Amino acid sequence: MILGKKVRLKATKEQEKKMWKSVGTARWVYNWTLARQQENYKQGNKFISDNDLRKEITVMKQLDEFKWLYDVSNNVAKQAVKDACEAYVNFFQGKAEYPRFKSRKHSKRSFYNDTEKLKVKPNKRVLIEKVGWMETSEQIPVGVKYCDPRVSFDGKYWYLSVCIDQAFEKEELTDEVIGIDLGITTLAVCSNGNKVKSINKTKVVRRIEKRLRRLQRSASRKYEMNKEGDRYAKTSNLIKIEKQIQHLHRRLTSIRTNHIHQATNAIAKTKPCKVVMEDLNVKGMMRNRHLSKAIQQQKFKEFSRQMAYKCEMYGIEFMEVDRFFPSSKKCSSCDEMKKDLKLKDRIYSCECGLRIDRDLNAALNLRKAGQLAA
Ligand SMILES: [Zn+2]
Repeated sequence: MILGKKVRLKATKEQEKKMWKSVGTARWVYNWTLARQQENYKQGNKFISDNDLRKEITVMKQLDEFKWLYDVSNNVAKQAVKDACEAYVNFFQGKAEYPRFKSRKHSKRSFYNDTEKLKVKPNKRVLIEKVGWMETSEQIPVGVKYCDPRVSFDGKYWYLSVCIDQAFEKEELTDEVIGIDLGITTLAVCSNGNKVKSINKTKVVRRIEKRLRRLQRSASRKYEMNKEGDRYAKTSNLIKIEKQIQHLHRRLTSIRTNHIHQATNAIAKTKPCKVVMEDLNVKGMMRNRHLSKAIQQQKFKEFSRQMAYKCEMYGIEFMEVDRFFPSSKKCSSCDEMKKDLKLKDRIYSCECGLRIDRDLNAALNLRKAGQLAA
């Protein structure tokens, strides 16, 4: 199973400089290759193989004026030649449009890192050739095969994207079925009693949200102040504030996504034979004004998406039960229905004597549904 992974790189100023050099070299070599092929074609010659072009570059490097090619990994140039040749061939085979030259401003700022040279350590560190070791926002799996590693810049951050070939050994699964109930006060409650706390109650998130609210207030005040008739003028100060707001939103999103990754990883690693979740009608729930914000933040959809693909990776069966399945209202012990269960009732108590955390009761019902379906 091939997985795409994209992580942020935390580079020093010095490393950023080196990466810019690699970006520039990749662009220059790409354009040089296209120009060589075009000129060659005009002269009525056959396509030059990327191997031959690479040899030309090796010769060029000896010249003083091209010495700078040594500043970056030779794999950067090698791949740029290959990419340009591929684009050229694709055009002649009718698979793509005529390749365009890469412009400094408008083309994607990226370069290639050799697969063999990409080193990953289990402490969230990665080695980019000729740039150095860097911390990554997330751990890239170790002990797996990598392919096509590319470093790119999105205008704000540097990223490493890499394909990972995870030839998963079909590991022994336990015979446990896990039901997972997603909620707002607690993000997830598993039928085995494990709980995943909500990230929104942590200090970090609260602090960011507080700063966000302050900035948003200040931005809207400034909008009012700079109002000219029905036009809004943007001052440089306002632009600055909006950038900060955007940055904070990005941070929140990544904190939340990471949290879900950790939670779903932990569940998958216990190797249950089956995971059962509710197919949540997120759209319907969003219509409830009071719940919508919290639901959005918890990213329920993201949780089930991640859970589903991680189950697939381990060969765990992933089951979604109908959203009309009464997981909360049903007693997990005697199957009796409690019609008057209110949202504020945190404890589910039944006439059969069961007194249990409401979410755990739901998780147990989901597990039962999974066991019955087997
Ligand atoms: Zn009962």
